Amino acid sequence: MRGTTIDSTTPLTAADRCDRCGAQAYVRVVLPVGELLFCAHHAREHAPKFAAVATHVQDETDRLLAEHGAGAGAAR
Ligand SMILES: [Zn+2]
Repeated sequence: MRGTTIDSTTPLTAADRCDRCGAQAYVRVVLPVGELLFCAHHAREHAPKFAAVATHVQDETDRLLAEHGAGAGAAR
């Protein structure tokens, strides 16, 4: 479901970039020492590591599908 209210964090924008590969970030991981941004790919890859230490995970990967469609790259 979309339209989830987020209180303490702002929505991710096109200016937010994955800390690993520089692609657009769709997941923000808040840690006690700061925060990390990941694209959908790296969020999935690193989820087991940050899940144990994150204080909050803002997952906007559903927006990735909404913006690019389930068949991303398909001609429009
Ligand atoms: Zn990435």
